[in-house]
Amino acid sequence: MTPIATTRLFADMPGLESVLARSVTVLGSTGSIGVNTLDVIAHARQQYGAQAFPILALTAGGNVEKLIEQARALKPKRAVIGDEKLYDALKTGLSGTGIEVAAGRAAVIAAADMPSDFVMIAIMGAAAIEPALAAIRRGVIVALANKECVVAAGKVFHDALVKSGAQVIPVDSEHNAIFQVLGSGDASEVELCTITASGGPFREWPLEKMRGATVEQAVAHPNWAMGRKISLDSATLMNKGLELIEAHFLFALPPEKLAVLVHPQSIVHCLVSYGDGTTMAHLSAPDMRTPIAHALGWPRRIASPARRLDLAALGQLVFQKPAHDRFPALNLAIDSMRSGGLAPTVLNAANEIAVQAFLDRRIGFLDISRVVGETLDADAAHGSNGIAGDLDTVLGTDARARVLAEEICSRVGL
Ligand code: NDP
Repeated sequence: MTPIATTRLFADMPGLESVLARSVTVLGSTGSIGVNTLDVIAHARQQYGAQAFPILALTAGGNVEKLIEQARALKPKRAVIGDEKLYDALKTGLSGTGIEVAAGRAAVIAAADMPSDFVMIAIMGAAAIEPALAAIRRGVIVALANKECVVAAGKVFHDALVKSGAQVIPVDSEHNAIFQVLGSGDASEVELCTITASGGPFREWPLEKMRGATVEQAVAHPNWAMGRKISLDSATLMNKGLELIEAHFLFALPPEKLAVLVHPQSIVHCLVSYGDGTTMAHLSAPDMRTPIAHALGWPRRIASPARRLDLAALGQLVFQKPAHDRFPALNLAIDSMRSGGLAPTVLNAANEIAVQAFLDRRIGFLDISRVVGETLDADAAHGSNGIAGDLDTVLGTDARARVLAEEICSRVGL
């Protein structure tokens, strides 16, 4: 399989003016990545002029107040809310502005289909699969922050990309780092690709203490301010497992060439080692505005308000092996990546259900991995292992795994 995210070498580098003229759609504008994207755009407008990165569409899930505030400030052509019940609130909030309003799942997909030059996929979870595919099918620049869609539907994304010629730029910090470090663009030359993990809030907690971990403790990430789901995935290390699968699909790297290294400071985001003994690393302060600015400006570099690196202040960088025994989610993800087929789709769906059940205080922290493991076993026992080759199969598997995972949550529940 060819990579989904390939670095291109430019004979004629586009001018900065053409980069700044890109029209932008932000899917998930009210979330952590969405807000950071709008912050980078605001900074670019201060630096380069108010016309930089005109906004075509903004979409949100349920936070209608924030969407109204963003739309009133940025004046996109269209604002879309995923929750249909909030259509009237959005319409009222934007009356008199001339901004088109729409609501519902199909409207979010339609927003991705509008003719912008650049689409930021910042929706959380598998809900991003169809909007992201709509953007990729248009053959434009797709900045991919969402990882679950690649994990659940990597082959489908690959096939859509081959047809459309879209340029995918990973925004997940580790994958954006790999994208930048794969200088020659040829992943076959890579000997080992290592992604780093902060280790999350429970890096040094014994298993017994983790058993009683609260929601507040689990979402308190030591280095990054992120949405609740990814913060929780960082606490179980499922986030790193999802990222291994994401890297596997994005860069066409086989499982044996992918590794994880715990690096509590989150300064080095990836290490790519080549057969000649060279290892290239990407360093930046833990601030998502850096990869977002890279994606917006690519292949040029634009100014961003991101925090700058101060290595002298840090003094030293620390690296450790991951504790596979205390973080079973990592092994579940690695096994799913090796199994291939629909296993990553099931893993992702079960994890989304288990994470929500923990956030709703229906299951304990250690139950999250248990639910994911039992869902994978139950799904395999049904003999439903297959090929994740088309969208209907992926969405059907995702739905089936969610039902199984809910049943298991009810059984293991508190
Ligand atoms: P948040 O939970 O902060 O934001 C998610 C966004 O998606 C919100 O705008 C939310 O709308 C919207 N949304 C959620 N569900 C739906 C839905 N069903 N339909 C339409 N819109 C929906 O998440 P993050 O910004 O933290 O993460 C977004 C993605 O980026 C995730 O896949 C995550 O793994 C990835 N990522 C995030 C990083 C970070 O630093 N935050 C780092 C690397 C990757 P609303 O709030 O209005 O309900």
